[in-house]
Amino acid sequence: MADGPMVVLSDESQRTSGEDARSMNLEAGRAVAETIRTTLGPRGMDKMLVDQGGNVVITNDGVTLLEEMDVDHPAADMVIDVATTQEAEVGDGTTSAVILAGALLSNAEDLLDDDIHPTSIVAGYRHAAETVIDVFEDMATEVEPDDIDVLEQIAGTAMTGKGAETAKDLLSSMVVSAVQAAVRDDGTVDQDSVVVRQFYGGSIDDSEFVDGVLFDIEPVNQNMPRSREDADVLIYEGDIEVSKTNVGAEATVGSMDDLQGFVEREQSELSDKIDKILDAGADVVVADGGIDEYAADLLAEAGVTAYRRVEDEKRQRLAQATGAERVGDLDLLTADHLGYAGSVSERVIRDMTVRRQADHESTTVFGDLPTEGVGTILLRGGTEHVLDEVERAVVDSIGVVSAAVEDGAVLPGGGAPEIEASLALREEADSVEGREQLAVEAFAESFEDGPRTLAENAGHDAIDALVDMTARHDAGDVNVGIDADTADLVDMFEDGVVEPLRVKTTAVDSAVDAATMILRIDDVISAGDLSVGDDEEEDGGAGGPPGGMGGMGGGMGGMM
Ligand code: ADP
Ligand code: MG
Repeated sequence: MADGPMVVLSDESQRTSGEDARSMNLEAGRAVAETIRTTLGPRGMDKMLVDQGGNVVITNDGVTLLEEMDVDHPAADMVIDVATTQEAEVGDGTTSAVILAGALLSNAEDLLDDDIHPTSIVAGYRHAAETVIDVFEDMATEVEPDDIDVLEQIAGTAMTGKGAETAKDLLSSMVVSAVQAAVRDDGTVDQDSVVVRQFYGGSIDDSEFVDGVLFDIEPVNQNMPRSREDADVLIYEGDIEVSKTNVGAEATVGSMDDLQGFVEREQSELSDKIDKILDAGADVVVADGGIDEYAADLLAEAGVTAYRRVEDEKRQRLAQATGAERVGDLDLLTADHLGYAGSVSERVIRDMTVRRQADHESTTVFGDLPTEGVGTILLRGGTEHVLDEVERAVVDSIGVVSAAVEDGAVLPGGGAPEIEASLALREEADSVEGREQLAVEAFAESFEDGPRTLAENAGHDAIDALVDMTARHDAGDVNVGIDADTADLVDMFEDGVVEPLRVKTTAVDSAVDAATMILRIDDVISAGDLSVGDDEEEDGGAGGPPGGMGGMGGGMGGMM
């Protein structure tokens, strides 16, 4: 496979150049898209992934699938990056973005076969991408941050196909309330202030939006008040235990008197710490480290509620929500460092089944907070797999509703924007000179892959659906898409299938970036073996399409 002079390369490295390199990369990238296409849309299928340790993930979520798949072909990785970017920028539309990237690669292959130079393809694709972004922006409809109906439709569209259907209305309204509460003064959404927590047991319908911060923590001592009002909260980045130097003194304890003195020294060290906490006026202590039993007794006597070994993420969130400044040294503690919660209450979530053990989980809710918009979406569900998938759906939903609120622009779903883009590009192609024109046409064709796949996955005749949809759009019905349940072509806004503009623009940007990056490569020099063939066996025989997918075998061997 290696050819040309290889002066500087070691024996182990491999080199693939020119057309071979390009087609290997195109195939690898395309194969990634092929793997996830059956999951697209409300009628898309789920995939079950099993890793080497036997852990199972069942999902319909594009980015989750790709991340779990353990792909190690560099060009395939670039396509996976499309999904990762999409997830980071909008939180939804990952499958669509990857399908577009796959189609762009596949159509580029055909052009290359016809001897169109990669540079022309890249230029045509770039040109087309700009046109499409304009088309999407023109096509977009405005949405106001208080338009609950449309926002709930957006939330619901992102949830379809992800096991959340039965409780879609409930979950959508929770997501919208949560996001609306998290809008900052400048109009952006503080998505971090919306937290999703899952609790086994009950059904999805029992899920709810909790106004405040909810943690699975309990007071260290039974005698501490478990619920209270008007609490000044200390977030303490240390422990309330006997310090190391005193423990070291143990070795020198000889007589009973020594022991007595030792215990007293310990206790006075602890009560010093407690005094500092009480002097500052704290009612609630949330500590990073442990809290000694004696110290806990003192705190309980003083009517303070204390929580120990609270994870960093929780302390950070609580600090932000209560307005507390985290304190590492009690000597420096003042009342100014304390945060505030209007209510701290215990909440027992019943009938839990944690890994088949019936249980009650005691949680603590910090409510009536000075920081607005802090809320927790509490998800319930019977099994871990269901909960995980519902959580992914809810998180996607939070992303799209936030994007819609921030940008104030939405598009119809169900393939409508793709068909509109495709038509616009075919028209645009006429005005493009030379070979670039073919690339613009190829781009137009690539956009049909999304709607085609939506129709296919719903069990409908894809060709009919495409022809009909194109005709309707040609006649000016811009918002017409395919209803995945009935195969009817309907106005997607009326059907309630709505997506934020950003889902589609980000998908175009990142798909084009990946496709053009892959197209520009004409030389692959690798330290390891990227080719298919000799390493089939150790890959578990998962194989894959010909042309360089050898590296993809590892994680996919277990995919069903
Ligand atoms: P992605 O990872 O791209 O979000 P999805 O599986 O969520 O993949 O599918 C998204 C596609 O499904 C979008 O084109 C969206 O408009 C479409 N879609 C969602 N709900 C419906 C519906 N009820 N009818 C038709 N299309 C829908
Ligand atoms: Mg989606």
